[in-house]
Amino acid sequence: MRSLIKINKVKNILENHGIQDASREAELIVSFSLKKDRIIIYRDDPDILPGTEKDIDNIVSRRIKREPLQYIIGFTDFYGLKIKVIHGVLIPRPETELLVEESIKIIKNIRNNEIKVLDLCTGTGCIAIAIAKYFPDIIVYGTDISNNAIECARENAEINQISNTIFIAGNLFEPFKETILFDIIISNPPYIKTSEIDNLQPEISKWEPREALNGGKDGLDYYRKILKLAKNYLKPNGFILFETGEGQAEQIAKIAEEKNYSIYSIKKDYSGIERILIIKLKKN
Ligand code: GLN
Repeated sequence: MRSLIKINKVKNILENHGIQDASREAELIVSFSLKKDRIIIYRDDPDILPGTEKDIDNIVSRRIKREPLQYIIGFTDFYGLKIKVIHGVLIPRPETELLVEESIKIIKNIRNNEIKVLDLCTGTGCIAIAIAKYFPDIIVYGTDISNNAIECARENAEINQISNTIFIAGNLFEPFKETILFDIIISNPPYIKTSEIDNLQPEISKWEPREALNGGKDGLDYYRKILKLAKNYLKPNGFILFETGEGQAEQIAKIAEEKNYSIYSIKKDYSGIERILIIKLKKN
């Protein structure tokens, strides 16, 4: 069968199963299976061999069970990097690129030597790796409570030929035992309210790891935990950068102020949602 006909068939099946971006996903599935660029497919409309057509049908049958395409293909793009994703590890989101961007801006302004960066709840390691790639002379640490996540993060560093990341399994700061002070502590922690998880689209609620989504009753558990401990791991002029869920930034800012931090800035994402919260230690 010709590629363009197949793309159209796949698109219709996906659409009939309520998948939103059916057209783009159909193109992705066919181009991934043919190992050919989308542009080339549109130019040449190559014939699909029966074996490859079977591969495509297998992907489609997984996808209509609402498994995220990134888990099926095994990769996603993040900040220009190819990031491997596996079941049990959160799929990097486009809005998290903003957290990388803001972190890079802050790091550029730090004047001391031996800058140390920590990414808590690192997951695939996408944030740590993107920053490490931008600053090859800086060591970027990443921790995650999940061993699988840490393994995935290490693999991602290797895939992207990054050698200045250190990924350690452990709960938040636990691997460091107050022996290191960081210039920047970054985190995109789990921030969904427990009661809201089941209302999310099935790709998330059925397929992504709960432990990477669940932020507790009000969604803010991890921010509280991190702010409680971060003082012991932050240089006096250091920064904390959080990604926050919709409507959370003000609440977290309040918690931070109560815990003797000051708010440096709040940044909105491209949809106008307050997405990044930048915090400093209060000067005494
Ligand atoms: N920091 C990782 C990411 O942004 C994982 C976040 C998480 O597991 N909640 O993709």
